[in-house]
Amino acid sequence: ILELKGIYKDYQQGKMTVPVLKDVNFSMEEGEYVAIMGPSGSGKSTLMNIIGCLDQATKGTFFLDGEDISKCSENEMSDIRLNKIGFVFQSFHLLPRQSAISNVEMPLNYAHVPKKERRERAFAALDRVGLADRVDFRPNQLSGGQMQRVAIARAIVNNPKLLLADEPTGALDSKSGKQVMELFQKLNDEGVSVLMITHDPEIAAHAKRVVMIRDGELQEKR
Ligand code: ATP
Ligand code: MG
Repeated sequence: ILELKGIYKDYQQGKMTVPVLKDVNFSMEEGEYVAIMGPSGSGKSTLMNIIGCLDQATKGTFFLDGEDISKCSENEMSDIRLNKIGFVFQSFHLLPRQSAISNVEMPLNYAHVPKKERRERAFAALDRVGLADRVDFRPNQLSGGQMQRVAIARAIVNNPKLLLADEPTGALDSKSGKQVMELFQKLNDEGVSVLMITHDPEIAAHAKRVVMIRDGELQEKR
C-alpha cells in the first residue's frame, strides 16, 4: 500500500535549512500492521505527515495504493486524504463544542456527503468503536479513552485503506491504551493497514513489524 524511495525532508527555519529525513526507504503491504519507534526529534511525525499527505517531501518518490503522489497538488493531496487515509493524533484533535457524532461526520462534510448519509455513516463508525451510547456527548463529557475512540471513529468514517496514528495512546492510561490497541487489532483484522508511531515498546509489540528511526534514518527490525 506504501512505497517510499529515497525520501528526504528539510525544514526551512529562517535562513537555516534543517535536514530531518535522510534517504528514507520504506514499504508496507496492504493489510500490514507496522509500528515506528525512535527517539524524540528523530523525524517520526515528519515521516507520518508525509505519508498522510499533510506535508510533502523535499526529495524522493512516494507511492500510495499504487499511485505516484510525489508531485501532487494541495487539492490532490486533500482528495487522497479524504478517500484513502485515516489519521489519529495523540491529543485527539476533536472540536470541543461539537457532539461526538458531529465530530465523526466532519470528514464527510468535506467530501460533500449528504446529511442523512453522513449521520448514518457517523453512527455506524461510533458503533464500530463501541460508543453507540455516546453519540450526543461533547468531548468534555467523555473520558480520554472515549475521546480517542471518537477520534478513531472519525478516522475510519471514510473507510480508509490506511490508518495512521501518531502516539495514539500517548495521552491515555494503560487501560484505555489497551482498548485502543484492541480496536486497532480489530480494524486490522477487517483489512485496514495500520501504521502507528509509539515510543512505548509494549504498544509497539501489538504491531507485526517494528521499524526504528534514528536521526532521520530508518532501520528495519524484523
Ligand atoms: P517526538 O517523539 O518528540 O514527537 P518526532 O520523532 O515526531 O519527535 P518530529 O516532530 O518529526 O520528531 O521532528 C523532527 C525534527 O524536525 C525536530 O528536530 C524538529 O525540531 C524539526 N521540525 C519539525 N517540524 C518542523 C518545522 N515545521 N519547522 C522546522 N523544524 C521542524
Ligand atoms: Mg512526534
